[in-house]
Amino acid sequence: MDAEAALQRLSSSQHGLSSEDAARRLSAHGPNRLPTARRRSVLTRFLGQFHNVLIYVLLAAGAATLLLGHLSDSLVIAGVVLVNAVVGFIQEGRAERSIDAIRAMMNPRAGVMRAGHRGNLAAEDIVPGDIVLLEAGDRVPADLRLLRAHNLTIDEAVLTGESVAATKQIEPVRADAALGDRASMAYSGSLVAAGHGLGVVVGTGRDTQIGRISTMIGAVESLSTPLMRAMDRFARQVSAAILGISALVFAIAVLWRDYTLDSALMVVVGLAVAAIPEGLPAVMTITLAVGVRRMARRNAIIRRLPAVETLGAVSVICSDKTGTLTRNEMTVRGLYTADGAVSVEGVGYATQGDFKREGMRLEPAADPVLSRLLHAAVLCNDAQLHTVDGASTVDGDPMEGALLVLAVKGGLDPARARADYPRRDEIPFDARHRYMASLNDTDGGPIIYVKGAPERILDMCVDVAAAAGHRPLDRATWDAATQHAAAEGQRVIALACRHAADSEARLSPERVEEGLTLLGLVGLIDPARSEAKEAVRECRTAGIALKMITGDHAETARAIAIQLALADDPEVITGAELDQMDDATLRATAAAMTVFARTSPEHKLRLVSALQANGSVVAMTGDGVNDAPALKRADIGVAMGGKGTEAAKEASEMVLADDNFATIVAAVREGRTVYDNLTKVLAWTLPTNGGEALTIICAVLFGLVLPVTPIQILWVNMVTAVALGLTLAFEPTEPGTMRRHPRAAGAPLLSGRLVWRIMFVSVLMAAGAFGVQAIAETWGHDTETARTMVVNALVAMEVFYLFSVRFIHGTSLTFPGLLGTPAVLSGLAGVIACQLAFTYAAPLQAIFETRALSLSDLLAVAGAGGILLVVVEVEKRLFGLWSRGHRPERSRATHGGNQK
Ligand code: ADP
Ligand code: MG
Repeated sequence: MDAEAALQRLSSSQHGLSSEDAARRLSAHGPNRLPTARRRSVLTRFLGQFHNVLIYVLLAAGAATLLLGHLSDSLVIAGVVLVNAVVGFIQEGRAERSIDAIRAMMNPRAGVMRAGHRGNLAAEDIVPGDIVLLEAGDRVPADLRLLRAHNLTIDEAVLTGESVAATKQIEPVRADAALGDRASMAYSGSLVAAGHGLGVVVGTGRDTQIGRISTMIGAVESLSTPLMRAMDRFARQVSAAILGISALVFAIAVLWRDYTLDSALMVVVGLAVAAIPEGLPAVMTITLAVGVRRMARRNAIIRRLPAVETLGAVSVICSDKTGTLTRNEMTVRGLYTADGAVSVEGVGYATQGDFKREGMRLEPAADPVLSRLLHAAVLCNDAQLHTVDGASTVDGDPMEGALLVLAVKGGLDPARARADYPRRDEIPFDARHRYMASLNDTDGGPIIYVKGAPERILDMCVDVAAAAGHRPLDRATWDAATQHAAAEGQRVIALACRHAADSEARLSPERVEEGLTLLGLVGLIDPARSEAKEAVRECRTAGIALKMITGDHAETARAIAIQLALADDPEVITGAELDQMDDATLRATAAAMTVFARTSPEHKLRLVSALQANGSVVAMTGDGVNDAPALKRADIGVAMGGKGTEAAKEASEMVLADDNFATIVAAVREGRTVYDNLTKVLAWTLPTNGGEALTIICAVLFGLVLPVTPIQILWVNMVTAVALGLTLAFEPTEPGTMRRHPRAAGAPLLSGRLVWRIMFVSVLMAAGAFGVQAIAETWGHDTETARTMVVNALVAMEVFYLFSVRFIHGTSLTFPGLLGTPAVLSGLAGVIACQLAFTYAAPLQAIFETRALSLSDLLAVAGAGGILLVVVEVEKRLFGLWSRGHRPERSRATHGGNQK
């Protein structure tokens, strides 16, 4: 169908719908959303909790005890099964909810015309008949009939599987054309690869092509990462090993130690339950989810979960300058024309400020060169300035916004100028060629306006406009003026123009890039972000190398790098110089240098690859379509939430909601915390399981009286795993976390040090259990009282050990260390309440065969815990001293040369 006919059919126009009409259509058609994959129901989720080796073991044991007539044992086992399932169910629900909340933060937006005004709308609110604007990097928000297409190519791989972007135009196509051949249409879910365009929405939500072929978009991302899967595997291997050991212990007990079958069975069940780290995978998932949530609270939105783990290992951060390290709030400070320098006053986007030449006020409208320069600044510009009650905001590129503010200060109304001098054609800005051009109809015939990086524009100019007429271009003067402004940290833009022939309807790079007349230079300031400076300092102490990669001028980049203390005396390397290098030189340069200027997106890809070849774990920022390959390649691709394109976001692991460099550093800090907490969960769970299991194995092996009964072991396990283990997922960042060097990439979570610690503490716990049993015997207690003491001692040791584990990199014997966190304290309170009931409440005494303890018994119990804590702290200290003496010096080369 013809474009006009399509518009009419949808009762719409090029100006867009009115907001009332749009609201009506929204309620008729529903939100522009694809149905999400069906979630598992609550019941299936709950039943899923029973699909677990441990539960099978328990259920089998429960059935066996029931057959043998031990009703109370069966009841306890049933209780344990239920508590396990409920806790698992709640934890899983929590983790899923925090991931859902993050996904909700990722809702895409789209440029839409409504009632003649261009605005930015949530893609969900788009209705049929809406006029949608498309730009390179956008995700097409709905199915569109194109009304305008300028060099528009769209990547439709999601729909057609075709990897080459399709060229679009607005002529109708045959009614029976295949999807891939419908060149006048843009389909929801495809990505704009280049150019720009405009289209009317013909279908939303389910009524789009993608809605038809797939209902799986937004399928629930599983809470799984490589590390989680490795831990799952590990837990399963451990479980299998334990089942083997249990069988062995069963045989020993029956054949050698003369246990009856049913008491041996109960012992083995107790052993299996004590030793199988059933809660481990779930607690680790929670730890990860807590990390994701904390990052989101700090504006770092994780798109792919494994990034949470990788973040902690980041050793190089490559960052953009504009908007990330700087505030991207641009203000024009000065102009340079052939008639001399002009300073411009005013703050931010406020539209008040005088133009002064050598201290004298000046009327730009009366100056022919300045007036042409302001016209160029407004017409070769895509931003919109909205002024409400004297306060201005900019829609679009902040630099272009600043140029509009400049024009208003100079007495030129951008809206009027644009209406009077309509645009025929344009070449949009591209970071690769670093300029933008437009062709406008003016009173004096069509004129081409060009603005861009000074080196580029000066190359295209043949002369310079001056009040007294055109003058030849003296390149050296202009280069010096550029250098001078850039050295003050200003971004410098050159503006130029040329008359075009009446017949010229279209712009092409060949026609634009020659014979121009230079109008002048504009110097803009963009202050460094104050929080970035602190973040840079934090990176340097944390052993993370920083690289600034910018398309801006070398001098500007250097000045900002100095302001931020990125390096002490930054040497700047340019994209052109990088192009001359072979891979080996590039690797050395990438590691050694800090500031890379006048780069294009392709350089980012080369730099990431070079840094990775040096063994670094690289985080790289980006915003444009062309940045996507580098973002994909980086270990952590970081897209800008605000100014970033959908293409960049889709290629990255993490999105910064505030486009702020400091947020990356905060995320790295959280990443390190998550990794530490995962280690802590392992370091606590495995030895407590080990200690309990070892106690039973030793008793059977050496034919001793069991220091705890199988039922009691079930109890200990249930109480501590629920109340204590989980608290470690919520541990805050340890002091000194950002003073350590990044951990080596690929180092196993279960390090040699950790394995040693697990064995050491397991043995200590078993020894503590037998020690307390011996004390009880010398005090003349009966077996039941002794067992009650041992159970309490096991719990006490686990509590004290928890406090030790909370600080893996330092001593726990500090005031804040002993104070704990709310999570730890409430866990502790829960455990104490349970133990008091276990020891003193009559019904529990009957089930678990426990006896009330005296004060001195309790002191012995607490003593066991205290001794364990001290011994582990001494071990920590000795190991710390030993490893400091033995640790080889880190090689500096891999972590960049810019650290003190
Ligand atoms: P950065 O890395 O600082 O974001 P860009 O790649 O965006 O740099 O821009 C590189 C250079 O291109 C800028 O220094 C400027 O000279 C020029 N430039 C940037 N934006 C525009 C624009 N909208 N129109 C014309 N030229 C621009
Ligand atoms: Mg930029």
